[in-house]
Amino acid sequence: MQDLESEISKHFDGAVRFDELMSNHTSLKIGGPVNTMVFPADPVSLKQVLAAANSENIEVFFFGAGTNLLVGDGRFEGIAVSLKNFHDIELTRDVDENKVVLYVGAGVSLPKLMSVAKKNGYSGLEPLAGIPGCVGGAVYMNAGSFGTEMRDLIVSVALMNKKGEISIVDAHELSFSYRSAGLPDDSVILSANIRLSKDDPAEVGKRMKDYLKRKKAVQPLGEHSAGCVFKNPENESAGRLIDEAGCKGMKVGDIEVSTMHANYFINKNKGTCKDFTALMKKVRAKVQNKFGINLEAEVRIIGKI
Ligand SMILES: Cc1cc2nc3c(=O)[nH]c(=O)nc-3n(C[C@H](O)[C@H](O)[C@H](O)COP(=O)(O)OP(=O)(O)OC[C@H]3O[C@@H](n4cnc5c(N)ncnc54)[C@H](O)[C@@H]3O)c2cc1C
Repeated sequence: MQDLESEISKHFDGAVRFDELMSNHTSLKIGGPVNTMVFPADPVSLKQVLAAANSENIEVFFFGAGTNLLVGDGRFEGIAVSLKNFHDIELTRDVDENKVVLYVGAGVSLPKLMSVAKKNGYSGLEPLAGIPGCVGGAVYMNAGSFGTEMRDLIVSVALMNKKGEISIVDAHELSFSYRSAGLPDDSVILSANIRLSKDDPAEVGKRMKDYLKRKKAVQPLGEHSAGCVFKNPENESAGRLIDEAGCKGMKVGDIEVSTMHANYFINKNKGTCKDFTALMKKVRAKVQNKFGINLEAEVRIIGKI
């Protein structure tokens, strides 16, 4: 580990933290310490980290805004990598009088991207208003809302593999499915090119506001959650199943099934990953008993639980 620390600090431009709590970096406010957390400033620094980790066989995970993550309470004996310094947004080309392609760094937050789109009158993202993640996480998860998913907007993504090799992958080469871009776990998303339509900024802003209002009416956006806990089974709503299985308001420790939207679990105060997974187990059992349906986790689980 000493070697790793000196290797990282020798080549690295960005920030490094040791023994940082993941709970400081997740919307659920859950997650134990990680040995090393890095915020590389550029692809060269990222490559140095991955090479050092690879040569010492150290586990790595990537995170963005931590809004879809459930992280174990114990120590993660590896490296957590955030690309929040990859925050550039550039207009790469005006495709024609109706369309543009934007280059967006993986660390750009969706709310920031929304505000740039609103200001410039770029349309396409409006149904995603209110999703709090970063572009890297949104691409990885194929985040979506009101029938629009990231896959509808992506032209290509830039990836780096654990050897530090960069590739540009066209959208049609990705295996998108519900809440997944089908990317290998050892690839990190550096950026995405997304296609948007040109429109009146006021109209774009109005639509964003409308979608956000609709979302706020049914989802507990202001509370500590990780978004939807379970994927919707085919032609079903996980929230409806959980609600009708009588789970709203059910609690383990400080984790509660939201009384507003049953597919959200809320950390009311000092909830832990252990509480969260215990509540997942209880809810799954109730839904299985009532409907014979096995709910699959949508939250990404990291570390030992
Ligand atoms: C209040 C609330 C509302 C939400 N509403 C929605 C919604 O309507 N629709 C929806 O789809 N989701 C929703 N979510 C979930 C979440 O916001 C999205 O999935 C979001 O896109 C995740 O982005 P993130 O940056 O937070 O990713 P993280 O939670 O940090 O990571 C998610 C996954 O992506 C991987 N990852 C992150 N960055 C990278 C990268 N650069 N390269 C490779 N892998 C990476 C991580 O390893 C992890 O597996 C909601 C969450 C909250 C808290």
